[in-house]
Amino acid sequence: MQLARLRLLLLPFFAVYLFACAAPQIDPPKQITILHTNDHHGRFWRNEQGEYGMAARKTLIDAIRQEVAANGGELLLLSGGDINTGVPESDLQQAEPDFLGMRMLGYDAMALGNHEFDNPLAVIEKQRQWAGFPMLSANIYDKRTGKRKYQAYQMFERLGLRIAVLGLTTEDTAKIGNPAFIGELEFRDPKAEAAKLVAEIQTKEQPDLIIAVTHMGHYDDAKSGVNAPGDVALARALPEGSLAMVIGGHSQEPLCMEKPNHNRTDYQPGQACQPDKQNGTWIMQAHEWGKYVGRADFTYQQGKLSLGRYQLLPVNLQGVPEPAISENTQMLQLIRPYQEKGQAKLSVKIGETHGGFEGNRDKVRFVQTNLGQLIGAAQMYKVGADLAIISGGGIRDSIASGDISYKQVLKVQPFGNTLAYVDMKGEALRAYLLNVAAKSPDSGAYAQLYNVKISDKDGVIEIAGKPLQSERLYRLALNSFNASGGDGYPVLLTHPGYVDTGFVDAEVLREFITLNSPLDAQTFAP
Ligand SMILES: [Zn+2]
Repeated sequence: MQLARLRLLLLPFFAVYLFACAAPQIDPPKQITILHTNDHHGRFWRNEQGEYGMAARKTLIDAIRQEVAANGGELLLLSGGDINTGVPESDLQQAEPDFLGMRMLGYDAMALGNHEFDNPLAVIEKQRQWAGFPMLSANIYDKRTGKRKYQAYQMFERLGLRIAVLGLTTEDTAKIGNPAFIGELEFRDPKAEAAKLVAEIQTKEQPDLIIAVTHMGHYDDAKSGVNAPGDVALARALPEGSLAMVIGGHSQEPLCMEKPNHNRTDYQPGQACQPDKQNGTWIMQAHEWGKYVGRADFTYQQGKLSLGRYQLLPVNLQGVPEPAISENTQMLQLIRPYQEKGQAKLSVKIGETHGGFEGNRDKVRFVQTNLGQLIGAAQMYKVGADLAIISGGGIRDSIASGDISYKQVLKVQPFGNTLAYVDMKGEALRAYLLNVAAKSPDSGAYAQLYNVKISDKDGVIEIAGKPLQSERLYRLALNSFNASGGDGYPVLLTHPGYVDTGFVDAEVLREFITLNSPLDAQTFAP
């Protein structure tokens, strides 16, 4: 009653009064935390220095879950994809420990990365069962049916907010995936797919937020060079802010901006990190291998999302002063048997050879050897190249006559370089070959050449027994180390025909040996 009288008295201020009265109806702020990782690449177990690993990641994420819940917040745990390929113990078990580990960590969704297609498509189905959470990609189509091959998006509810998470995969998968496995798939332009799908989700689901989990790479200022367009191009191609954020992968960098459109190149674990923002969309990526868990604490209020704090939380990385994160026992119980089984598998016979392969450093840095030829043949086979090259310094051990184990192959190529190729004109190839062929013996740079003959006297070059043609396009297979200028080789990373397949060199050699076993060492005589 008193209030009613007051209202009459203060009639001129009625509007002000109404405003004040409405104030309590403003939604309270909602705390939404996004945790993210990407490019796990088989690192379910810690490395020899005790860095990363899913057991420590579990301890870290569990603690964050508790903290967020205690503050009345809720979270989503997302991955930018590429769970597969990179560690023999994981590769040999089709990444089963990795996907089961992700399930235990409570991942909500992930993007399908290009390396999810390193195995036959049936393996992805198995991995989906192990994971138990959606593996998303909106832009992969089945050529026969013309329909999407995989789930495009998933709806989540957090603190009453409707959150759509959609997935996208780099078009480059068509270039770097195994043609035997992806032949029936079409990788469409993710920007166009996202535009279509965002509109569809907005109508159908009326979400409060749309998040993209992508495996497309982050490239400063959308300059993707020889790569397919990445997350920056995606954010710019859509109506402003239609994606609240992109949780990315593929370029495998700590994404911490120095200034607009410039990612830092000197980021050290433990330092502050500013994610990218393009056209109203946050873009985040947490380097690789579970080295970090990205943590973004958002506040959502009155239809607006604002980023409070962003961190890349290091998982037991060296050089970080913080105390070590202990390993979660339950996770260790899950993954330890796989680690042991994986290591045991390394000693198992993968093939055999009649006659040994020469990898002694007194040989591979001086003369052409049959092991140089074998590695060249494996590289060439894997990417359908015309010729192959590896510097002698990249070959670290011999293979004896008899049974061959994966362990032995890993001794030959211990560095975990990836296989790359370059499509280049004969003329450019001639210049390249003359350059590397001139590297002096008795150095790691001495080149082992496969399917190439260079005559000492006049520099005449033959590829597969035929004179090199200046105008023809050739495919050269080599590892990422040499391609990036390792051993003083010309840098090929920026060549428009350059593709890094991401296949680990030792795995490529293992596969070749298995496919061609028993090997006859003599047939690889230089
Ligand atoms: Zn990738």
